[in-house]
Amino acid sequence: MSLKDIFNEKTVFSLEVFPPRTAQGEDNLINSLSGIKSIKPDFISITLGAGGSQNNSAIDLASTIQNDLKIPTMAHIPGLYRSKADVTEFLQQLNDHNIKNVLALRGDHIPDQQPVGDFKYASELAEFIKQHGNFDISGACYPQKHPESNNFVDDTLHLKEKIDNGVSHLITQMIFDNQAFYDFRERLQLAGINIPVEVGIMPCTNRNQIKRITELSGIEMPKKFVAIMDRYADNKEAMRDAGIAYAIDQIVDLVSNGVDGIHLYTMNNAENAQRIWDATHTLFEATSNQLQKSL
Ligand code: FAD
Repeated sequence: MSLKDIFNEKTVFSLEVFPPRTAQGEDNLINSLSGIKSIKPDFISITLGAGGSQNNSAIDLASTIQNDLKIPTMAHIPGLYRSKADVTEFLQQLNDHNIKNVLALRGDHIPDQQPVGDFKYASELAEFIKQHGNFDISGACYPQKHPESNNFVDDTLHLKEKIDNGVSHLITQMIFDNQAFYDFRERLQLAGINIPVEVGIMPCTNRNQIKRITELSGIEMPKKFVAIMDRYADNKEAMRDAGIAYAIDQIVDLVSNGVDGIHLYTMNNAENAQRIWDATHTLFEATSNQLQKSL
């Protein structure tokens, strides 16, 4: 079943992992993912470095998840520092490994490094991928707007271009304030954008890591969330418990309010993903039953 179709069946639950830097790291990740078979993600997405490195390790990891663990896999492709020839070769490799889902991205600018110039924006990459194979193409979106955007109107219009060029499902930047997503959903409706949108959730278990990410991406942090980070920054265990509880609370609210799916930024921590799944899986299963009854 293609990803597009899964959204008609249920509230989707997906995971994001990144290719570890070492073979040992990759073994550890695969072992932990295969050891937690009770999590039933609808797909797992694999990140890829903007600068054009990591292609082989991403393909290896994606292929193991797709073909050995039998979990549908999505490969991220940032286009800014890749040529048309690079992307064509990467798509061919994905196809050879039976991977049919891609996330078309622009990628972030790397200081002092000139972009290749073939794909200035994700919309151009989506158009190219559409013309080069039978891939299900997803795209990124930003409930609190992309940090380089001047305003929500421009950001939404550019998002629409991406969809017109072949993107059929969106995944949001991580959010810590659900209201930001509900406001964004209304703006999408006003703009006539009605493809499925998964909400990105990241369990905050490390204060410095979250601070770095949110500062770079301009994500706003609600007071309740800042209080957790400030109080438990020096207590690893308590921080982890509070971060996971916060993520679970967000997911319960989002699924209850009818979102299309949850995309969990796991940071390769399968144990945290397992704890979140254990606390919320009945919610996802319940939506599946409800949708089947209404068919
Ligand atoms: P775009 O959609 O191209 O948008 C980028 C900016 O350009 C926006 O401000 C947009 O409004 C503007 N814009 C778009 N079109 C036009 C136009 N025609 N004219 C003028 N302005 C325009 N990065 C990685 O390197 N590897 C990853 O694996 C990765 N995974 C990600 C997964 C998710 C779910 C998300 C949300 C982000 C991910 N990123 C990843 C980060 C992403 O590459 C950056 O956020 C990047 O800055 C923007 O990528 P985009 O695809 O959203 O770009």
